[in-house]
Order: sequence, then structure tokens, then C-alpha cells
Amino acid sequence: MAEARLPSRAENFSEWYNQLVLRAELADYAPVRGCMIVRPYGWALWENLQSALDLRFKATGHVNAAFPMLIPKSFLEREKDHVEGFSPQLAVVTIGGGEVLEEPLVVRPTSETIIGHMYSKWIKSYRDLPVLINLWNSVLRWEIRTKLFLRTSEFFWQEGHTAHATEGEAVHETLQMLDIYADVLENEAAVPVVRGRKSESEKFAGAKDSYSVEGMMGDTRALQAATSHNLGQNFARAFEIRYLDRDNQQQFCWTTSWGLSTRVIGAIIMVHGDDQGLILPPRLAPHQVVIVPIHRNDAERSSVQEAVARLRQQLSAYRVRIDDREGLTPGYKFNDAELRGVPLRIEVGPKDVAQGTVTLARRDRPGREGKSAVPQDGLEGHVAAALEDIQRSLFDRALAFQKAHTHEPRSYEEFKEVVQGGWALAWWCGETECEAAVKEETKATTRNIPLDQPGGRGVCIHCGKPAAERALWARSY
Ligand SMILES: [Zn+2]
Repeated sequence: MAEARLPSRAENFSEWYNQLVLRAELADYAPVRGCMIVRPYGWALWENLQSALDLRFKATGHVNAAFPMLIPKSFLEREKDHVEGFSPQLAVVTIGGGEVLEEPLVVRPTSETIIGHMYSKWIKSYRDLPVLINLWNSVLRWEIRTKLFLRTSEFFWQEGHTAHATEGEAVHETLQMLDIYADVLENEAAVPVVRGRKSESEKFAGAKDSYSVEGMMGDTRALQAATSHNLGQNFARAFEIRYLDRDNQQQFCWTTSWGLSTRVIGAIIMVHGDDQGLILPPRLAPHQVVIVPIHRNDAERSSVQEAVARLRQQLSAYRVRIDDREGLTPGYKFNDAELRGVPLRIEVGPKDVAQGTVTLARRDRPGREGKSAVPQDGLEGHVAAALEDIQRSLFDRALAFQKAHTHEPRSYEEFKEVVQGGWALAWWCGETECEAAVKEETKATTRNIPLDQPGGRGVCIHCGKPAAERALWARSY
């Protein structure tokens, strides 16, 4: 299947992305428009991301549970902003078992409402708090314009839902989960992010405050990689989630929710990939190492295979694939491993066997520069060092790119120019109408209001009114 090259990333970023997702066998289009099939290679990447998150969720006291996919439609109507926000995107089930249902059911677009319903039953006293539950599931939000991983009607994610006795605990939880997302994105996915609070127009429907982590993709557009919401007492009041405090007084709980989805796979593709294909961060790559045996005849084959079997033993701590498929040239296998973004390739030929060496090739440094010959003895040490260095290099490169394309414009004229090819950090008055006008004129919106603020005060980049905070502005996915 010698296919044509990928479209160039620089020339057509969007088409490069679409074709790469398909050709690397990460995902495919489903028969139902807007839905996505995640193929085994893509799912393996997601599983590694899941593990990294799940470990951190559990280390901070959270537990997993499962909730149903169908929710009574009336539940969504109890929180006014929530139903307004989600109504246009709902899929509604009206017939079940051939009968028209008495009450229509929605396919969950998110689970705050059914969680609220159940928490009101389960939580009675301050002794029951906090409740810290996470769900790994999929949700459905009808989308018109879709793109694999980035925007599909059904997507896979985790949604955390917690209930607390005090506002302070809920705020702490919201920010703690934001930090966990930033940690996983930066240290596992090698995607640098900016933490911040969402503006009124960008926040979650029904939240008091929403926070996000935003990453810069390879075309300089921003991608919201995860969100964490302080729901205040909005859902607690709508669903009567109450507890008896130490003085035997009824109190409403304070709740939060937070989520990260398979969108992050889209971010990994767009941040690290190149014209040859994916470049996966070693900590998440389904295969960290691919070994390609090279031989021309039976005698060479047996000695090479013997060496490869020994090397696999040495590398038992790593996710290793041996590409011993018959009838394919080494060159084909190299290209295939590059397309799939395997961080490290090990070539083993007869000459290597004779000399007790192998050739290492780094995916992040194409051509000769990324190649080195190392001894078979102690190979695991070289592999460990190389994978660690690739992980760090990918992050450093992405961070340098983000910094180089983040501007601090001093006038609206300059602002309009820089947001066409980057991010702008600029003072903002905080008014929704002002933000909408900027969006209308430039297609850029506030991605978030970074937690990291310079201090002092300024004037709004658009309307000139006094501004207390700087916002991060960008065109986004
Ligand atoms: Zn303004």
C-alpha cells in the first residue's frame, strides 16, 4: 500500500490532520455522520492517557463509578442555564420497545443532572462529604461541522463530579483538578498549556466559574484541552443536594465537575506531528520502540532473529513492537513507523549482529542527525535516556513555539494583526459585548483569563475602558 505522501503541514494543515488521523489508523468515520470510530492504535493512546489521569484521580481520593446513558429530559430543565446551553445539541429518545415513551429521554450530553438527582439521595449528613466520583464514558452532543477527535457528536472522556460541605473546598477541588490536567498535558503529552478562568460567554452552562487549560496547536490556533467547573450551589439548589451540618442545620452542598476528552489526542497530533506523520510523546506512545530486523537470506535471518529476541528481553520494561512482517522492505517499515509516530526505532542487521551493536533512530530528529550506533550490551540504558530526551525535547519545542507566537499587542491595530497567526495577551474590560465585537471583527475569542497575571491595571485592548485582568485571545478549535 505505497500511498502518496501526506499533504504538507505548512500548506494545508487541516487536510494534513484529516489524512494523518486516517492513515495512522487512529480513527475512522462512522456510518452516522458526526460519530467517530477510534481504532485500536488510537484507543491504545487513549488508554495510556486514561491511566495517567486515573492514577492521579485516585491519588487525590477519587473513585470511579458508572451512570446510565439515558437521562429523563425533565432533569435537564431544572437548571435554567444548563438546559439553555445544551438544548440545541440534545439527542432525544421518544420511542422505546415500540411504544411512545411517557417522558422523553435524552442521551447524556454530560451527567451533572443525573448526578445531582442521585447525590440528593445519597448525601444526608456532613459525614457523607465530600463525594468524589469520576466516570469514564462517552457523551453525545449533536454537531453539524465535525472533525475526528476535535469535534464529534459522540466523544469519549471522563467526567468528574464532586460534592463538598463548603465553598472553599469546592474551589480547592476545581483548581486541584485543573492542575492535574495541566500536569498530565505537560508531563505526559508534552503539550504546554495556559491555565485560566473562562469568560462569562465561554463558561460551562450552569457553572459559577469555569477554568480551562489551553494549548497552542501547530497552526497557532488554541485548543481547550480540559475544563474544570466550580458549580457553586446552582445544581445543589436545582436538585436539592443537602446535608445536615454539625449543628444539625440543613445546608446546600457545593459541587464541581471537570472533564478531559479524546480531543487531547487531536492536540497531540497537531502539536507534535510533522510532514512524515505523528510524533508521539514516549510516555503515551502505544509503541515506545519499534525493532526492525534487517536480513537478506535465511542465514542472516536466524542470527538477526536471535539478536532481536535477546534485545526484546532487555527492553521488557518498554512497550516494544517487533516489525517482522514478511514481504515488506525495511524502508517501508521505517516509513510506517514514522507515520505512526513511534518515538524510537532500532534497526538490527547482520553487520550489527557481528559488531554487537544496533542503530537507534529518533523520530523527533529526522535523517542522519537522529541516528546513532550503540552497543547491544546495556541497550536498555540507551533507550531509557533517548526516550527521556525525546519526551523533554518535544515539550521544549512546543513551548518555544508557543512563546514565539504569543504576543502582547499595545494597540487594537496590532492586536488584529497578531491574532491572525498567534495568541494575544491583552487587557480586557470583562464585558461580553466587547468580547463579541472582537470576535466579530477578528474571529479571536478569549480562551481564558490566565491565572498568572502581571498585576496592576490597564485599559481594554478593544474599547479602552479600565481593565483589571489580561485575557488570552486566539482563534480556536
Ligand atoms: Zn472592552
